[in-house]
Amino acid sequence: MKLACKNIGLNLEIKDALLEKMKKHGKEHYPNEYGGLLVGRYSDNFKSVLIEEIVLPKEYKSSRFKFERGAKGLKKVLHNFFGRSPSLSYVGEWHTHPDGIPVPSITDVAALKMIVQHDEVYIENPVLLIISINREAYELGFYVLFRNEICHYEIVSKELVNKIEK
Ligand SMILES: [Zn+2]
Repeated sequence: MKLACKNIGLNLEIKDALLEKMKKHGKEHYPNEYGGLLVGRYSDNFKSVLIEEIVLPKEYKSSRFKFERGAKGLKKVLHNFFGRSPSLSYVGEWHTHPDGIPVPSITDVAALKMIVQHDEVYIENPVLLIISINREAYELGFYVLFRNEICHYEIVSKELVNKIEK
């Protein structure tokens, strides 16, 4: 799936298989929220991000309306991703909204802003994927924090993607 935030000129690509993986994990934790990290890489001009992997947290707190992941062990996992060829980095967060809408809550936005200020992971524009999930269907909401504002990624194409465009 390809998406774009046209007003800020950012593009995002994600493999369908990865989305299926997240939906499956989300369904297993339904009706509680669940989520983790998004790992991927940027194009040379930093205008396109390809999300390639997810990381599930070792520790988390979750309820129907809350998901809070811990940071335990994530540094090491991310270090290993960085050592791969091509090198993969932390690009953002994902979590489910069971029986909700795929729109970030005030808490979600505050959490993203905290990530930018965090000194351990250097990331300026974290992606946030929210998967709304109920018994029949899923809905995806992709967002990015850009200059302290939330921008919604619009779907450009649902075709399968395996490679990032330069
Ligand atoms: Zn949320």
